[in-house]
Amino acid sequence: MNTHPDSPVPAGSLVGEIAAAVSELRLASRAVELDRTPAFPWAEFRALGERRLLGLRSPARFGGRGLPLRDVAANLHALAYASGTTFAKLSLQPEFCSVLAEHGSDALREQYYRPLVEGRMLLGNHVTEPGAGSDAGALALRATRSGEEYLLEGTKSEAAFAADADAAIVYAKTGERSVSAFLVPQRLPGLERSAEPPDLGERWMRRGVVRYSGVRVPAENRIGPEGQAFDLLKEELTRERLLLSAIYLGVGRSSFDETVEYVGSREAFGRPLRSHQAVGFPLAEDWAHLDATWLYVERALGRLEAGEDVAAEAALAKRMATDVALRTIDHAIQFHGGRGYSSALPHERRWRDVRSGAIAHGPSEVMLRVAAGRLWPRGPGPSGA
Ligand SMILES: Cc1cc2nc3c(=O)[nH]c(=O)nc-3n(C[C@H](O)[C@H](O)[C@H](O)COP(=O)(O)OP(=O)(O)OC[C@H]3O[C@@H](n4cnc5c(N)ncnc54)[C@H](O)[C@@H]3O)c2cc1C
Repeated sequence: MNTHPDSPVPAGSLVGEIAAAVSELRLASRAVELDRTPAFPWAEFRALGERRLLGLRSPARFGGRGLPLRDVAANLHALAYASGTTFAKLSLQPEFCSVLAEHGSDALREQYYRPLVEGRMLLGNHVTEPGAGSDAGALALRATRSGEEYLLEGTKSEAAFAADADAAIVYAKTGERSVSAFLVPQRLPGLERSAEPPDLGERWMRRGVVRYSGVRVPAENRIGPEGQAFDLLKEELTRERLLLSAIYLGVGRSSFDETVEYVGSREAFGRPLRSHQAVGFPLAEDWAHLDATWLYVERALGRLEAGEDVAAEAALAKRMATDVALRTIDHAIQFHGGRGYSSALPHERRWRDVRSGAIAHGPSEVMLRVAAGRLWPRGPGPSGA
């Protein structure tokens, strides 16, 4: 799937199955359609679940593949290379719900996590609020205990699948300084959802706002101990930032390969574009950055598998992978000329889709803040880290 002969990205163990899914489910052209007519791709979600291509890392007892992290990353890279961010991110949905898989009760996992891995149920993740995004410590949505229930009061914003999700993992304050996670079905009395205007890219996510007005949630829907949600979320964030990096690098690599081929045949001023240094040199640099960032991601994944804390490396990886992919795709737009700017070619859509990576799952600046916190653990670093 990755045509470049010198690529350091190993073929994932599912490369044949991924190639079959991409071609039989027409994933590349479905991604174009979903950009033009945004909707949650239920049919593909179910089909990927049936092929066990959701939850590549999820335990086999929940219907997942239980693959090691580096293999998951190589497979996601291949899927993103062949069809863009859309279906690779769909495949990652169970990863975004690891808190439920690892700390939810058996009943919650059977009722919500397994159907998610099987592509039968969609779960959202509600952290961001109108007054709390990067600074998640500023959450205001409150869950107040009342007997065997919690009452949820507040507003979540920027949420993917706001109107489409069957249930969501909701992060709520349960004390002045404590935050807890709850599994909340999204059709409860007092819960109101509204979609926002379409996004720049990844429009199929149909983000929006969810308002909770006295929503009653059974106490058994709490995930993990009260007040410890952010500790549980930390491990999930580290993994997902590394796996998202693999996706962004896969998308960047596809634009890179297509551009290398194009500039070899297109002529300007009597010779191929590739022989103009202003074209060839930036592509050589993109090649170095794509490979180097992949190797960095792989090393961090290896350390994580060995039990090390790589939260800072994961943050840096996401920052670098997003930057590298965006720059590479921008070169693809530029060197394909007028056609590169057109939606007839995939580069402009890929750029719009990858652009979210510099904001979602922690903005790029905040990724540096996390890394600076490792460099200067005891005192304020740049930007107050
Ligand atoms: C495609 C997409 C999908 C998303 N899906 C979800 C979802 O499903 N659930 C959910 O809860 N949220 C979701 N989000 C929201 C996302 O997590 C937040 O947008 C993000 O955390 C930033 O929060 P904010 O928008 O409030 O920006 P703010 O916190 O207001 O920050 C605005 C900007 O200020 C800068 N900045 C912030 N802090 C610092 C700092 N310390 N130093 C330097 N610069 C800084 C950054 O450039 C940042 O982008 C999604 C976002 C996108 C784009």
